[in-house]
Amino acid sequence: MRFRNRSILLFITALWLGGCSGPPALRTLAQDAVAAMGGAEKLQGVKTLAMKGGTGTRLRMGQMVKATDQENPAQLKDVVDIVDLGNGRASLDYALQLGGFMQHRHEILTKKGDKSIGIEIVGTRPIIATTPGGLFSWGTQNSPEFLLRRNVVTIALSAAESASDRQPAIDKELNGKMYKYGTAQTKSGEDLGLYFDPQTRLLAAYEVIDTESILGDVPAQYILSDYKTADGLTLPHHITVRKGGKDYSDVQFVSIAVNDPATEQVFAIPDSAAEEADKAAAGDEYSPMKIVKVGNGVYHAVGYSHHTLIVEFPQWLALVDSPYTETQAKVLFRAIQEQFPTKPVKFVAVSHHHYDHIGGVRTSAAMGATILVEKGNEPVLRPLLEARHTHPQDELDKRRNSQPAQQAGAIEVYEGKKIISEGGQSLELYPVSFPEHVDPMVLAYASSARALFQPDLYTPPAAANGGPPAQHLLQALKQLNLRVDTMVGGHGGIGTFADFLKAAAPAASSN
Ligand SMILES: [Zn+2]
Repeated sequence: MRFRNRSILLFITALWLGGCSGPPALRTLAQDAVAAMGGAEKLQGVKTLAMKGGTGTRLRMGQMVKATDQENPAQLKDVVDIVDLGNGRASLDYALQLGGFMQHRHEILTKKGDKSIGIEIVGTRPIIATTPGGLFSWGTQNSPEFLLRRNVVTIALSAAESASDRQPAIDKELNGKMYKYGTAQTKSGEDLGLYFDPQTRLLAAYEVIDTESILGDVPAQYILSDYKTADGLTLPHHITVRKGGKDYSDVQFVSIAVNDPATEQVFAIPDSAAEEADKAAAGDEYSPMKIVKVGNGVYHAVGYSHHTLIVEFPQWLALVDSPYTETQAKVLFRAIQEQFPTKPVKFVAVSHHHYDHIGGVRTSAAMGATILVEKGNEPVLRPLLEARHTHPQDELDKRRNSQPAQQAGAIEVYEGKKIISEGGQSLELYPVSFPEHVDPMVLAYASSARALFQPDLYTPPAAANGGPPAQHLLQALKQLNLRVDTMVGGHGGIGTFADFLKAAAPAASSN
């Protein structure tokens, strides 16, 4: 009884406080935060934000040697993050360094007419266009679309609109400091947790569920600091993102330009990608894809930068790798259905657990394929296949959660070598440790064409010195006693074994 009376008393007090002074209602805090940033009118007038000169770090790239290893952060430099709130466009431009790997990358979500399309510019590769789901980023976010949904102006405005004027804020700690905390919604109805700084009244952090292409639904935390004046607004210049309780990205920007007309040019479609941009704007899903014959019953499905091996059996097909994005996987399966209309994809084997080579595996499972995973790759692949993907919902999540649930392919874990054979065709899978890149890497051998497929160790058809990974690969092929005629790349193209031998020869000493 005592407790019951006490809770009634607390309830009445809360109502009274909500109506009068005392702990401020959440809406008041959210409106104060908007006022501290420059006011609702000015924030609503923001069309473009260009955050420039960023330096920092990025994790959750999935480039570990073993699937269970801790990740090392990549360094981000020259980061320029741009959002165009008026037109639903965004751009992630940055230089990335991870150990000895360096790449300048630029992913752009833009418009062709009223259709959203993606433009991808990576190093010196040809510039390509895709539908938006084909974009994959190692910048501050998983894709430019996230910048649009998670930028501070959009979040602050939706908090001020959706926060309750009845809900009193509670005190909550974050990183050793006390904040006023409460909940609201984004424009699309996602739940937001909001931390307001009681001294500055600014929005110090917010929490939301992010659907990451590999990690699936993860609780994400955006910590906003170093608020400074930029074109009459007060905006955070330091943004720290944590996902699933782990560091994700952390970038300090030098400056932010608001509504700068010069920002426009980043969204222009480059001439060299104009033809592809038309395709991306016309079809349902588009990313570059062509199927090339390797030899008897063996094909190479060539995407933008990450490729697939197709092995044809009498009744069905087996693939090795379904890389990059859900969009690429959809385009891959469409191309396969056109070329092999009577043959379902029965198996998709995974070469290794690096995120850039497994982004289409969930889609492959949704298409009914059994996903063949060597035990060493399981710690990444099993959670990838089991995760929820709700916002937006992907094909696998849709199938599993429809009423009644629809059939989808399952994971099949094997240990050591695995050989699939039927009707004179065989696909042989050999896990080998390559500690210079990944452990294990599953080398895939298609017997009918004497073709060997692997990504990342050697890129066919190069004959130039391939360094230790190529030498190590040659050693492994000798130990496995495989008779190889043709090398097929998870990157690059198709090459002869003779050229691979040149690439795998020890470097001649130059002095
Ligand atoms: Zn790799």
